[in-house]
Amino acid sequence: MNLTNIRKLTVVINSIILFLVFGLAGFFFLCGAEFLVWFSIPTALVYIFGYYLIKKDRLDIYIRLVYSWLTLYMCVTTVFLGYQMGFHLYCLSMVPIIFYTEYMAQSLGKKKINALAVSAVIVLFYMAATGYSAYSGPIYEVDSSIAMVFWLFNSAIVFYFLIVYARIMLKLVGDSEKKLTDIAHTDRLTGLYNRHFMMTRLEDSVNGKVDEDRSVAMADIDNFKGINDSYGHNAGDYVLKTISDLMRNICKDAEISRWGGEEFLLFFEGDSAAKALDRMEELRRKISEYDFTFEGVKITVTITIGIACYEKGLSVDEWIKEADERLYFGKNNGKNRVVSIPVRDLSGK
Ligand code: GH3
Ligand code: MG
Ligand code: MG
Repeated sequence: MNLTNIRKLTVVINSIILFLVFGLAGFFFLCGAEFLVWFSIPTALVYIFGYYLIKKDRLDIYIRLVYSWLTLYMCVTTVFLGYQMGFHLYCLSMVPIIFYTEYMAQSLGKKKINALAVSAVIVLFYMAATGYSAYSGPIYEVDSSIAMVFWLFNSAIVFYFLIVYARIMLKLVGDSEKKLTDIAHTDRLTGLYNRHFMMTRLEDSVNGKVDEDRSVAMADIDNFKGINDSYGHNAGDYVLKTISDLMRNICKDAEISRWGGEEFLLFFEGDSAAKALDRMEELRRKISEYDFTFEGVKITVTITIGIACYEKGLSVDEWIKEADERLYFGKNNGKNRVVSIPVRDLSGK
């Protein structure tokens, strides 16, 4: 949540509280709880002043003032009308809000609230008010059926808040975990998987189903340094991104990673492993035919690819090395080609 949304939400909450303060003041008046009617005046003024603080972007002061006054208000109403009304229950819902506020202040780089200390103060006020009320009874007597309605209403609101809050927090944690995982697994420039993720993926695959067919294709852009040198680094980046998009379109049945600078590793598993050679041949051809144009300048791009099927007993490193050797055979023998046969069988050809 950004600062503007927090401000909007605070205005809404402030308005709801102010509305409740006026409503309760009317109720106190009907009950003859004179002190509480008077007490509602500074309470309303605090919340009206709250709008000013929100407008002036002083959420830090607003939060301190509001939390303190709300705690005081809950305790005063509990002492005067009795804990049977359930006003003190709101103190329970304030604790998670305070911890959330501390977290938000920290992540927005604002002045921090000591949530633990504030919570301890709330607990003390809560115990003092309910303890006093249980021991001495209420100062103003309220009809027991009215008290019960308040108790049920206040309990329902507090439970509703705690449940909604817990769900929101769970969603926030889940979303940020997903975001971090995506960042940790993805290459920023191309949006493909990164090397670390692919390595883990290959190891999991090799250690998983024994009889599964698997192939890797190691692809390296030809003369890429020359592209950077002739057309600039941005042109190089454009080529990397365009090739990544072509790979995504052509090799839908593969998992694709950026292995290093201008190298890509594609992983085919199961039925798709048999199609790896066809896919790579199609990719090579389409790249060589594609119209790479950066800032009006046409760039010729080709790619060389080495493919290796997984053979039982190989480690992932040995498997990749096999694909690498085939790639480098292709590099040393004209580039712009796909090599899928062991180099020892090709030597001399
Ligand atoms: P070969 O045909 O043998 O593969 O030659 P090459 O020029 O493609 O290979 P070389 O290893 O000599 O050069 C790779 C270049 O890739 C060098 C490096 O500056 C460039 N490079 C690596 N990462 C990036 C990147 O993210 N963006 C750009 N623009 N260039 C990059
Ligand atoms: Mg290269
Ligand atoms: Mg390279």
